[in-house]
Amino acid sequence: MSWTAGFLEGLRPEPVLSVSEWADRHRRLSSKASAEPGPWRTSRTPYLREPMDCLSSNSSVQRVVMMFAAQTGKTESGSNWLGYVIAHAPGPMLLVQPTVEMAKRLSKQRLESLISETPVLAEKIAPARSRDSGNTMFAKEFPGGMMLLTGANSATGLRSTPCRYIFMDEIDAFPSDVDGEGDPVSLAEKRATTFARRKILLTSTPTVKDFSRIEAEYLRSDQRRFYVPCPACGEMQWLKWAQLKWQDDRPETAAYECECCHEQFAETHKPALLRRGEWRATAPSDGKTAGFQLSGLYSPLGWLSWADLVDDFLRAKSDAPMLKSFVNTRLAETWEENYASKVSADALLQRCEPYGLDSLPPGAVCVTIGVDVQGGGGSIGDRLVVSAWAWGPGEEGWLMDHQEIMGDPCRPEVWRQLDVLVLHRWGGRLRADVIAIDSGGHATAEVYQYARERKAQGVIAIKGQSQRGKPPIGKPSAVDINAKGRTLKRSAQVYPVGADTIKTTLFGRLRHNEPGPGYLHFHAQTGAEYFEQLTAEKQSLRYVKGFAVREWVKKPSARNEALDCLVYAYAGLNLLYQRYDRRTIWEQLERRQQAPTREKVESGYNFAKSW
Ligand SMILES: [Zn+2]
Repeated sequence: MSWTAGFLEGLRPEPVLSVSEWADRHRRLSSKASAEPGPWRTSRTPYLREPMDCLSSNSSVQRVVMMFAAQTGKTESGSNWLGYVIAHAPGPMLLVQPTVEMAKRLSKQRLESLISETPVLAEKIAPARSRDSGNTMFAKEFPGGMMLLTGANSATGLRSTPCRYIFMDEIDAFPSDVDGEGDPVSLAEKRATTFARRKILLTSTPTVKDFSRIEAEYLRSDQRRFYVPCPACGEMQWLKWAQLKWQDDRPETAAYECECCHEQFAETHKPALLRRGEWRATAPSDGKTAGFQLSGLYSPLGWLSWADLVDDFLRAKSDAPMLKSFVNTRLAETWEENYASKVSADALLQRCEPYGLDSLPPGAVCVTIGVDVQGGGGSIGDRLVVSAWAWGPGEEGWLMDHQEIMGDPCRPEVWRQLDVLVLHRWGGRLRADVIAIDSGGHATAEVYQYARERKAQGVIAIKGQSQRGKPPIGKPSAVDINAKGRTLKRSAQVYPVGADTIKTTLFGRLRHNEPGPGYLHFHAQTGAEYFEQLTAEKQSLRYVKGFAVREWVKKPSARNEALDCLVYAYAGLNLLYQRYDRRTIWEQLERRQQAPTREKVESGYNFAKSW
């Protein structure tokens, strides 16, 4: 290059790049965050080119919807856009994660490495360490723009300054309402209305049908699918799970069957398929919204193979919650959750089994108890309702006992009777590891006190939470108790229980028809009333500000204590996951059983059923 040419080169404005061109030129993947460190190559995941380029400044698309499976590069394409905005098309940007906590994690991990590993970005953003750098956890300043990070659970964060670019990540995990101010997606999008050349990116793996935000957005878009040519006949088609074939539960035999010529082809064709693939709209377009759906079948060689998918499917197919996760994260499709209505009391009664209660059923290695507290204050229905469940590998469960201890829970007698169950050796060997008692209903003070006094025996106080997405059991919080007229500050603990989450899991399990992991056994003495109570709740749809909310509701005037007791016992089982290594918990519990017991079976407790 001559001196003059070099001089002119310096004056010429930077060419307008697309996001994929920018990434191919500048983006570097860190060895910390990526399995394939080094320069970014869009050719590795050709299906990402078009969604990324819709986010380029020279594209007329305003909203990009990506309903993608895990391990397809969705996250990195979002990062490429962030880099592109900072370095190439600066402007104010809002980055929304499901929660503020997740936004913090994203800032500390992904964003820091994105900036530090890519030289053109490191030049634009000062290190977070330096004072007044404009680079904080929730705000990154750069020439011509600023990136703000927040969570969909913070109305304040979503109401920030106007933003030309909005990136909402994992929107299916967003709450349906934030701080009573409505839908977080609409709240955030209002930030961009004043910008004619705005860009909004919505990404997620989908969740439950009719409740999935990303699916609703995709259905409102032009619904693009990635078409690839059959290696045998050349017919263009998008890859579907139903066309993946294998033999005799052997994942390594996985092959794809062409819909047109029915030839089966191996995964080694994948690089060629992806290279020759193209996005095609399957619905009319409004010219502003581009929607993309992509399953794990397209994951490049070396990331997630067809054999891996078959293997995942074979592991998940008999367990509804695992199958849901497979459908959502691997296939990027929504899950139809209508199974609750299919669990009938009659069908459950039919499958009762005559297993003995003198010993633990083969495979059972621990016992947890759930206690529901009814009444309080001398009413007629005063009682404790108690279910004991034995558990084995894969959460196979056996109902060992269900009974009511009649009496006022505000008086000590009923608690003394519960002591018998707390100290009982189930099957002649094992005491219950966890006895979870509901403190949310009646006699709260008594429950706190009992749990505090019996902590060493595994008794805990719990409180059910009806919100969706809560873990089965959370971290305990300290509460005051009233003992003998004195207030003892923070001397008892209460564990939050994700009742909605657990019910969804358990109703999936109740649908199992084959004993094994996840199956729930009921012994032959269980009466019809028990199953009426167990199935007393069903899922219903409620609409909040235009969004469907799924919630568990009790059938009118029905009793549901049997279900509550199972929910609490299952929460107790989940507490064990905090105490044991989850990968080896069943082996550890099993080994414990083989240790010799010193005491013989305690008597004095009669398992004659009350009903
Ligand atoms: Zn073909």
